[in-house]
Amino acid sequence: MIHKETIDKIFDASRIEEVVGDFITLKKRGINLLGLCPFHNEKTPSFTVSPVKGIYKCFGCGKGGNAVNFIMDHELLTYPDALRYLARKYNIEIEEEEQSPEELESQNARESLYIVSAFAQKQFTNDLYHTDEGKAIGLSYFRERGFREDIIEKFQLGYSIDKWRAFTDTALKAGYQLDYLVKAGLTIAGEEKTFDRFSGRVMFPIHNVTGRVIGFGGRTLKTDKKTSKYVNSPETDIYHKSFVLYGLYYAKKGIIAADNCYLVEGYTDVISMHQAGIENVVSSSGTSLTVEQIRLIRRYTQNITILYDGDNAGIKASFRGIDLVLEEGMNVKVLLFPDGEDPDSFSKRVSQEELKTFISENSKDFIAFKTQLLFEEVKHDPIKKATLIKEIVESVAIIPEAIMRSVYIKECSRIMDVDEQVLLSELNKIRRKKVTDTAKPESFAQEPILSSEGIDYSVEKKKEVLFDDCEEQEKEIIYFLLKYSDQKILTDAEDEEGRPTEVEVSVADFIIQDLNNDRIKFDNTLYQRFFDLYTNPELPTENYFIQHVEKEISQLAIDLVSSPHSLSDWERHGIFVITEDQFLKKAVLKTIYALKSKKIQKMLLENHRKIKDCKGDEEIMRLLVERKQLEEGKKLYSSLLGRPIIK
Ligand SMILES: [Zn+2]
Repeated sequence: MIHKETIDKIFDASRIEEVVGDFITLKKRGINLLGLCPFHNEKTPSFTVSPVKGIYKCFGCGKGGNAVNFIMDHELLTYPDALRYLARKYNIEIEEEEQSPEELESQNARESLYIVSAFAQKQFTNDLYHTDEGKAIGLSYFRERGFREDIIEKFQLGYSIDKWRAFTDTALKAGYQLDYLVKAGLTIAGEEKTFDRFSGRVMFPIHNVTGRVIGFGGRTLKTDKKTSKYVNSPETDIYHKSFVLYGLYYAKKGIIAADNCYLVEGYTDVISMHQAGIENVVSSSGTSLTVEQIRLIRRYTQNITILYDGDNAGIKASFRGIDLVLEEGMNVKVLLFPDGEDPDSFSKRVSQEELKTFISENSKDFIAFKTQLLFEEVKHDPIKKATLIKEIVESVAIIPEAIMRSVYIKECSRIMDVDEQVLLSELNKIRRKKVTDTAKPESFAQEPILSSEGIDYSVEKKKEVLFDDCEEQEKEIIYFLLKYSDQKILTDAEDEEGRPTEVEVSVADFIIQDLNNDRIKFDNTLYQRFFDLYTNPELPTENYFIQHVEKEISQLAIDLVSSPHSLSDWERHGIFVITEDQFLKKAVLKTIYALKSKKIQKMLLENHRKIKDCKGDEEIMRLLVERKQLEEGKKLYSSLLGRPIIK
């Protein structure tokens, strides 16, 4: 367990915009920041971060929370682990109370993988610089490739000694457990023996977006045909290949600055480009591009440029992957290096300036590139040509934006010399089919939790609300407690001699007293729990709820404070403000009346039902009296709310 004081310290230090900003690009929008939501797939940003309130809220998928919640959800960490993450980020020392065995175990499992991976990186780097073998083989290889010292250091390159289990033995001697070495993919447990996965290879550590080592790529320098050139870490609890891009940790800032991301093939391409001063570059390293990787890039930019080797036989095979990028609504450009060159070789041959100019002058739009490349091969074969046209139009059809689609259709019609109208009708056919195949609501309406209609009680609810459902009114009460609990309002009272006077009470006291007087309970048990927390002698603050350890409570608080509902909305809805106090009181009263009115409504329905089922005369009499009282109450609250009375 982490001490309460330490938790408070962590919350105080954590700037939500910095915590979120480590993962997604945020742009200023008024007093808030806005970005693409990392929790659902969206193309226009609805993920809002409020530095003032210390919270985030997505108006697309509804996810919201504080800094700790964000790390929990985004990094898939437990509550204590998320606190530890933030403590590390803000250099806060954690004083731990004793942990339960389960806590220790779950924390240890993933953390141990990070720890052994970090140890392995240090060991491999050490072996590169400080062993004869490392220097003779590893270091001289990197130098031969032309890597500068600062670059070798920056990317934490290393070398794994060429013995059966040199690394494993060193790690065991240093106190690391074999179990974790195996789980981290560093050691292979064979049937009889255990041995190093990477022995005799130069090592490229793979980092997650926060810069922790999660896996490795190892390249052999032997020419032996039986040895595969590259060996990568297997999937582990901390390394999921399809969610990782090599170099992203080092590229984040560059991608944002250039508003573009270069995608290359291998580790050395990434490193060479960095050395040449181009830092917005990543590699999917080994796997073919996945949707998750594309979305990772899209957090930082909408623009991808794919760099191909000059003699790349795999270009056509990669087209399907690029369609995925188009489907995500991103702009894709393609760059083909001169024959026989790859980013690595080319960047070493020319100057930095030449490289930059070459890239910017030769990047082509992907669809035009694909069309041209394929068209050259088939232009004399009508059947193949027809197939190609269909294929190209299919690529265009997945672009979400209509304007972009029409631009591409024009371009393709020019390149392939096909009537634009023909392409358009083909396009529409494909899109119609797509729509019927995958009919799903694409856009989420922005959903304020408390709609403005909720205030104007003379207007019937547009939404289909159950007649006896008090949910909305209960929520509004909670809203007032949360937002205005310690604000003072004047309320009627009597002085010592029984004369009418006014006294100041807090909004919280006012609401609590009023509801308790009428013994009103919330139907929604979460609201009731929330309400009960206000009966503490010390009035809890907004932050108390936002940072509450129970996810349900903090979630509700965050939903409410991030709702667009505010007193000024009320003003716009015709409640004229004389002074803020009077206005607040009016608003609180209206909300209480509305809740009571709903509760009475509900009791009336119950009463009707009972009367219908009732057998005994005495019971009927009692119920009829009750009904009369309820109807009077209903009339009273309707008039207080200024509603027409409907029988
Ligand atoms: Zn979202």
